[in-house]
Amino acid sequence: MTLRKSGAAMICALLILQQAGFSAEPTSQTMKSSAFLKEFVGRLKPLQKKANLAWWNASTKGDDQSFQKKQEAENRIDALLASPAEFQLLSTLREKGGISDRVVARQLDVLYLRCLEKQVPSWLLQEMNAKSNSIEKAFNSFRPKVGGGEKSSNEVRNILQKSAISADRQAAWEGSKGVGAVVEKDLLALVALRNQAARELGFENYHVMKMFLSEQKQGDILKLFDELDELTREPFRKAKSEIDEKLAEHCGIEVGEIRPWHYHDPFFQDSPAVFGADLDGLYSKQDILKLCRVFYSGIDLPIEDVLERSDLFEKQGKSPHAFCTDIDRDGDVRVLANVVPSERWMETMLHELGHAVYSSKNIPNTVPYLLREQSHILTTEGIAMMFGRLSKNGLWHEKMGVASDDPATRRKVSNDAARVLRNQLLIFSRWCQVMLRFEKGLYENPKQDLNKLWWDLVEKYQMVKRPENRDAPDYASKIHIVVAPVYYHNYMMGELFASQLHHAIARDVADGAAPRKVIYADDPRVGEFLKQKILAPGATLAWDELTEFATGERLNPKAFAEDFRP
Ligand SMILES: [Zn+2]
Repeated sequence: MTLRKSGAAMICALLILQQAGFSAEPTSQTMKSSAFLKEFVGRLKPLQKKANLAWWNASTKGDDQSFQKKQEAENRIDALLASPAEFQLLSTLREKGGISDRVVARQLDVLYLRCLEKQVPSWLLQEMNAKSNSIEKAFNSFRPKVGGGEKSSNEVRNILQKSAISADRQAAWEGSKGVGAVVEKDLLALVALRNQAARELGFENYHVMKMFLSEQKQGDILKLFDELDELTREPFRKAKSEIDEKLAEHCGIEVGEIRPWHYHDPFFQDSPAVFGADLDGLYSKQDILKLCRVFYSGIDLPIEDVLERSDLFEKQGKSPHAFCTDIDRDGDVRVLANVVPSERWMETMLHELGHAVYSSKNIPNTVPYLLREQSHILTTEGIAMMFGRLSKNGLWHEKMGVASDDPATRRKVSNDAARVLRNQLLIFSRWCQVMLRFEKGLYENPKQDLNKLWWDLVEKYQMVKRPENRDAPDYASKIHIVVAPVYYHNYMMGELFASQLHHAIARDVADGAAPRKVIYADDPRVGEFLKQKILAPGATLAWDELTEFATGERLNPKAFAEDFRP
């Protein structure tokens, strides 16, 4: 089972020809395939719209009825994708070959992967769903036991952020890890089911299958992460030692006594706030949405219409998170958010509107429905991350008129912001190493000593000492392993994509300026570049082809490492 690949340049030439109405004479295979796709999309499209609208209503209103509607629509989509007769037809069309039109072939490939995942016996699908749901419920109702009482996860977080007493921190941290022991058995059962499903479809294990389904190869991704490890190891060690000194000082201990509970996040996936940087002050009197409007129209990717359809402020029953959704792939794009004037929400809105920009709103409608979306989750995350980073960029602060008038303050905030961002990304990159490699080991050999594997990886990549005499399923306290399996590495690849694209913009749009000096405010050429290189192809190019097409190189960690060298 391999996917058709060919040179990105050629594909785009074809795409341009096709958009201009020049198409090679279609073969009968092409016509058959087009007819199949038209009929299939005719059924899929209204269901997807229904599910997206129900999800939107459920998230903005929080009512059971909408959740139920969403579930119903999703079940009908699953039934369509799982249909053995349709899958048979689709597979035959793909395997027979002779399709003269690259875009038609690409649609078959994309649809094939979506359907393939559903081709496991329905009892197995149901059992996996049930297990995953019941574990998720256990996560939701879990209350960490700390010092004889129960605490909420916010209270645990509060202790980890503030307490100077190591014993209290340890108790809170251990309490938060308690959920691992609660779900361990069910999680291992779920892993066995997932592996069984993968083997039914002819894959070695679930990890290999999931990568295949998202057009990635395990070996390639590991190689990329090895390279990233190499480039981030020393910068991370240096940043971490500065942080460790602060943490040790705060608790009155030696650096050598630091254990996982001395970090502010139970997994050390975020940067501890130890340098007293106040970035919220920058935005406390700002109109976050106005800044977004001015910024995005300045790069000629206006988002006015998105904001009009969006649900942006806190209210009863509404989801506390933020997301962007493309309702119909016909330009109805919306953002859900809970904006308050803070740095976090500045970043979040730049991020979500980055997703909004990279959607059917700007992908030409000559791109067929199945391909009228981002090339890959990592490419849309990359675009969103690239814009999200600006909230911590001193030059951007000046350009957008939010920087202080006092030069000394301005310099301090700018330096603080750069350090926060750098630490955040270095720390996150090391944490993603643990997630990727643990999940690989988990599905490859679920019977090994997983407790040990987890801490071996944490020590190696995050350089955090394991607690003495602890033998507990701490890996199972990370909910993503349950609800978003083999997915996490895409966030990191999104960060790499963001840096690499930024460097390409510096080179090709900003006339070779140093990437550190390049900001996007008020430069319509940036929008033009993105329209041509990222938005126009939609998903006609796979993520690796798109990366090469837009940046001239395969995805690699060099630009990222350069951006975040201390
Ligand atoms: Zn995102």
